[in-house]
Amino acid sequence: MKRLSSPLPHWLKPSARVDLDQLWWGIRPVIRTQLSMTVERALIARWTGRFGFHIALDTDGFLCVSRNAYFARGVLALDRSVGKHTFELGIRLGYPFCCCRRAAEVGDEGLDELAAALSQQFHGRFKLIDPSGYPDGRAFISHVPCSARCKHSLRMASALQNRQAAADLC
Ligand SMILES: [Zn+2]
Repeated sequence: MKRLSSPLPHWLKPSARVDLDQLWWGIRPVIRTQLSMTVERALIARWTGRFGFHIALDTDGFLCVSRNAYFARGVLALDRSVGKHTFELGIRLGYPFCCCRRAAEVGDEGLDELAAALSQQFHGRFKLIDPSGYPDGRAFISHVPCSARCKHSLRMASALQNRQAAADLC
Protein backbone atom coordinates (compact mmCIF):
# COMPACT_ATOMS: atom_id res chain seq x y z
CA MET A 1 0.00 0.00 0.00
CA LYS A 2 1.20 3.48 -0.78
CA ARG A 3 2.73 5.40 2.10
CA LEU A 4 0.40 8.03 3.53
CA SER A 5 2.98 10.76 3.33
CA SER A 6 2.10 14.40 2.92
CA PRO A 7 1.28 15.44 -0.63
CA LEU A 8 4.34 17.40 -1.81
CA PRO A 9 3.56 19.07 -5.14
CA HIS A 10 6.31 19.62 -7.71
CA TRP A 11 5.94 23.39 -7.46
CA LEU A 12 7.23 23.60 -3.87
CA LYS A 13 10.88 23.52 -2.79
CA PRO A 14 12.22 20.08 -1.68
CA SER A 15 12.56 21.42 1.89
CA ALA A 16 8.76 21.77 2.01
CA ARG A 17 8.60 17.99 2.42
CA VAL A 18 9.59 18.40 6.09
CA ASP A 19 7.17 21.27 6.74
CA LEU A 20 4.30 19.56 4.95
CA ASP A 21 4.85 16.33 6.87
CA GLN A 22 4.68 18.31 10.12
CA LEU A 23 1.49 20.02 8.99
CA TRP A 24 0.00 16.79 7.66
CA TRP A 25 0.40 15.05 10.99
CA GLY A 26 -0.62 18.01 13.14
CA ILE A 27 2.83 18.61 14.62
CA ARG A 28 2.71 22.26 13.50
CA PRO A 29 -0.39 24.42 12.86
CA VAL A 30 0.97 26.42 9.94
CA ILE A 31 4.06 26.30 7.74
CA ARG A 32 5.92 28.83 5.63
CA THR A 33 7.67 27.86 2.43
CA GLN A 34 8.33 29.08 -1.10
CA LEU A 35 7.30 28.19 -4.63
CA SER A 36 10.06 26.52 -6.65
CA MET A 37 8.57 27.74 -9.94
CA THR A 38 5.82 29.86 -11.40
CA VAL A 39 2.58 27.96 -11.16
CA GLU A 40 -1.02 28.69 -12.08
CA ARG A 41 -3.25 29.68 -9.18
CA ALA A 42 -5.80 27.14 -10.37
CA LEU A 43 -3.30 24.33 -9.83
CA ILE A 44 -2.59 25.55 -6.30
CA ALA A 45 -6.31 25.88 -5.60
CA ARG A 46 -6.90 22.30 -6.77
CA TRP A 47 -4.17 21.01 -4.47
CA THR A 48 -5.38 22.95 -1.42
CA GLY A 49 -8.97 21.90 -2.06
CA ARG A 50 -8.03 18.25 -2.45
CA PHE A 51 -6.13 18.07 0.84
CA GLY A 52 -8.18 20.51 2.91
CA PHE A 53 -5.43 23.12 3.16
CA HIS A 54 -5.70 26.88 3.10
CA ILE A 55 -2.95 28.90 1.55
CA ALA A 56 -1.79 32.53 1.66
CA LEU A 57 0.61 33.48 -1.13
CA ASP A 58 2.53 36.70 -1.70
CA THR A 59 3.86 38.21 -4.91
CA ASP A 60 7.41 36.95 -4.23
CA GLY A 61 6.30 33.33 -4.16
CA PHE A 62 6.39 32.92 -0.37
CA LEU A 63 3.43 31.10 1.05
CA CYS A 64 1.89 29.89 4.27
CA VAL A 65 -0.15 26.71 4.39
CA SER A 66 -2.51 25.63 7.16
CA ARG A 67 -5.75 23.79 7.75
CA ASN A 68 -6.94 27.14 9.13
CA ALA A 69 -7.25 30.04 6.65
CA TYR A 70 -6.87 32.59 9.44
CA PHE A 71 -3.52 31.11 10.54
CA ALA A 72 -2.17 31.06 6.98
CA ARG A 73 -3.14 34.67 6.29
CA GLY A 74 -1.99 35.92 9.70
CA VAL A 75 1.47 34.38 9.55
CA LEU A 76 2.09 35.60 6.01
CA ALA A 77 1.02 39.12 7.02
CA LEU A 78 3.30 39.04 10.07
CA ASP A 79 6.19 37.75 7.93
CA ARG A 80 5.75 40.62 5.49
CA SER A 81 5.27 43.32 8.10
CA VAL A 82 8.01 45.80 8.90
CA GLY A 83 10.14 45.33 12.02
CA LYS A 84 11.72 42.47 13.93
CA HIS A 85 9.30 39.66 14.66
CA THR A 86 11.51 36.59 14.72
CA PHE A 87 10.20 35.43 18.11
CA GLU A 88 6.50 35.88 17.40
CA LEU A 89 6.81 34.36 13.95
CA GLY A 90 8.57 31.32 15.38
CA ILE A 91 5.91 30.83 18.06
CA ARG A 92 3.08 31.12 15.54
CA LEU A 93 4.86 28.66 13.25
CA GLY A 94 4.83 26.17 16.11
CA TYR A 95 8.53 26.08 16.97
CA PRO A 96 9.61 25.45 20.59
CA PHE A 97 9.69 28.50 22.88
CA CYS A 98 13.39 28.01 23.72
CA CYS A 99 14.33 27.89 20.03
CA CYS A 100 12.26 31.00 19.22
CA ARG A 101 13.99 32.86 22.05
CA ARG A 102 17.42 31.80 20.76
CA ALA A 103 16.49 32.74 17.18
CA ALA A 104 15.38 36.19 18.38
CA GLU A 105 18.71 36.63 20.20
CA VAL A 106 20.78 35.94 17.09
CA GLY A 107 18.26 37.54 14.69
CA ASP A 108 17.20 36.22 11.30
CA GLU A 109 20.59 37.21 9.94
CA GLY A 110 22.41 35.10 12.55
CA LEU A 111 20.49 31.85 12.05
CA ASP A 112 22.84 30.42 9.43
CA GLU A 113 25.78 31.10 11.73
CA LEU A 114 23.97 29.41 14.63
CA ALA A 115 23.21 26.41 12.43
CA ALA A 116 26.88 26.23 11.37
CA ALA A 117 28.04 26.45 15.00
CA LEU A 118 25.74 23.56 15.95
CA SER A 119 26.75 21.27 13.08
CA GLN A 120 28.80 18.24 14.14
CA GLN A 121 27.53 18.69 17.71
CA PHE A 122 24.54 16.37 17.49
CA HIS A 123 25.15 13.07 19.27
CA GLY A 124 23.13 9.97 20.00
CA ARG A 125 19.38 10.45 19.75
CA PHE A 126 19.91 14.19 19.27
CA LYS A 127 21.11 13.44 15.72
CA LEU A 128 17.37 13.53 14.98
CA ILE A 129 17.34 17.33 15.48
CA ASP A 130 20.23 17.99 13.10
CA PRO A 131 18.56 20.34 10.57
CA SER A 132 21.36 20.16 7.97
CA GLY A 133 19.38 17.90 5.61
CA TYR A 134 16.43 20.29 5.61
CA PRO A 135 17.10 21.98 2.23
CA ASP A 136 16.85 18.55 0.57
CA GLY A 137 13.76 17.57 2.57
CA ARG A 138 15.72 15.13 4.73
CA ALA A 139 15.33 16.35 8.32
CA PHE A 140 12.86 15.88 11.16
CA ILE A 141 12.65 19.54 12.15
CA SER A 142 12.48 22.64 9.98
CA HIS A 143 13.94 25.16 12.42
CA VAL A 144 17.40 25.76 13.85
CA PRO A 145 17.33 24.31 17.38
CA CYS A 146 18.49 26.45 20.31
CA SER A 147 21.16 23.88 21.14
CA ALA A 148 22.36 20.47 20.02
CA ARG A 149 20.55 19.04 23.06
CA CYS A 150 17.18 20.77 22.80
CA LYS A 151 14.63 18.37 24.29
CA HIS A 152 11.64 20.25 22.88
CA SER A 153 13.04 19.96 19.35
CA LEU A 154 13.75 16.28 20.00
CA ARG A 155 10.11 15.77 20.98
CA MET A 156 8.98 17.36 17.70
CA ALA A 157 11.46 15.35 15.65
CA SER A 158 10.50 12.09 17.38
CA ALA A 159 6.82 12.78 16.73
CA LEU A 160 7.49 13.16 13.02
CA GLN A 161 9.74 10.10 12.88
CA ASN A 162 7.09 8.01 14.66
CA ARG A 163 4.29 9.17 12.37
CA GLN A 164 6.40 8.48 9.27
CA ALA A 165 7.35 5.03 10.55
CA ALA A 166 3.71 4.22 11.34
CA ALA A 167 2.64 5.43 7.87
CA ASP A 168 5.30 3.23 6.25
CA LEU A 169 3.70 0.20 7.91
CA CYS A 170 0.28 0.91 6.38
ZN1 LIG B 1 15.03 24.70 21.89
